[in-house]
Amino acid sequence: MVRDEIVAYIEGYAASFDAPVAEGVAATRLRTRREGGFALRTGAGDLTADQVVLAGGPYQVPMRPRMAERLPAGIVQIHSSEYRSADALPPGAVLVVGTGQSGCQIAEDLHLAGRQVHLATGSAPRVARFYRGRDVVAWLHDMGYYRKAVTEFDDADAVRFRVNHYVTGRDGGRDIDLRAFAKDGMRLYGRLTGVDGPRLAFAPDLRANLDAADAVSEGIKDSIDAHIAATGADAPAEARYVPVWEPADEPAGLDLAAEGVTSVVWATGFGRDHRWVEIPVFDGRGYPTHDRGVTSCPGLYVLGLPWQHTWGSGRFSGVGADAEHLARQIVAHQHRTVHTGLHWLAGTPYQTSPVDDEEWIAPRTVA
Ligand SMILES: Cc1cc2nc3c(=O)[nH]c(=O)nc-3n(C[C@H](O)[C@H](O)[C@H](O)COP(=O)(O)OP(=O)(O)OC[C@H]3O[C@@H](n4cnc5c(N)ncnc54)[C@H](O)[C@@H]3O)c2cc1C
Repeated sequence: MVRDEIVAYIEGYAASFDAPVAEGVAATRLRTRREGGFALRTGAGDLTADQVVLAGGPYQVPMRPRMAERLPAGIVQIHSSEYRSADALPPGAVLVVGTGQSGCQIAEDLHLAGRQVHLATGSAPRVARFYRGRDVVAWLHDMGYYRKAVTEFDDADAVRFRVNHYVTGRDGGRDIDLRAFAKDGMRLYGRLTGVDGPRLAFAPDLRANLDAADAVSEGIKDSIDAHIAATGADAPAEARYVPVWEPADEPAGLDLAAEGVTSVVWATGFGRDHRWVEIPVFDGRGYPTHDRGVTSCPGLYVLGLPWQHTWGSGRFSGVGADAEHLARQIVAHQHRTVHTGLHWLAGTPYQTSPVDDEEWIAPRTVA
């Protein structure tokens, strides 16, 4: 789906059950109440709630590295979240920093608009858009990848924070091949490591970044081949990717003034800001600690995080399963508090009765 289809999908979803959506209202403070439940402060007044789901999204605060402050004042700097079109940037060459989905898609957009693009690469993997007759997402869906739980990985914590594969849905969808862009005149670099006025420094990891991205993409194709062989699915054969360009060297630096670079797009991701949630359920990085969206504070939940439970969790296709799981917890919690009168006491966040503890370890499903 492209932008307008996504918007229509969300609007249709809200209309489908007449959801009481209040737009443009910021929640600014959430606390537990001594008598149980929660107190919420919003721009449209105060509310109380028996239970709360935090669904503020994973992409809350645009992040840009501190070295951005050392760029010359004349350079226009924007974050990827502010990018709209090549025309909105001043004439001249553009440096894009970061090769996650946003950085790669913005670099392509600028490149197609005829701009000289300089692109600082990172370690994001890539994925083919189509392989053996179908969208790769369709294959991965059939293969159960999006239902695989994060707990099945030894390094679950690292998996949660891994950057997504780059690919595009533009013009019906296609691969993003940075080597092809380079062949066509885009200038590629390794990771940006330093800014000293107009002089930038890069790590010597361009070749490694390109190779690693291709290796992941080809590895996914290996899995699809194995799936086709195992299931006997009818799929046309397809030749594998052959690198179309190799870096001649590892470019160590870039002089913005000498190369006519007038703007920088920081495609360096997003952070979280949960400071308005005055409840101790976060780890040292501000990430809400949870088990399938259930936090350690009874009645408080999170939804919509990448890898909340599965790879599908951070996607439209998978969030529904997480929501159903939470709905069952919410009904069970309501049942418990109504029937036992148990409440989480403000100021004693982890104190619960033994009965309540047991129920939290093995939540009952209430029809
Ligand atoms: C570059 C990129 C590409 C993606 N591509 C795909 C894709 O192809 N397919 C796919 O399925 N998914 C994709 N995703 C992921 C998808 O966008 C997210 O999973 C989805 O938007 C999450 O929905 P959400 O409602 O949980 O959060 P969001 O869409 O982030 O919505 C959260 C909302 O909460 C509001 N909010 C936050 N804090 C407060 C507060 N204190 N008070 C009031 N409101 C608040 C925010 O303003 C926002 O409106 C992509 C994401 C990115 C960044």
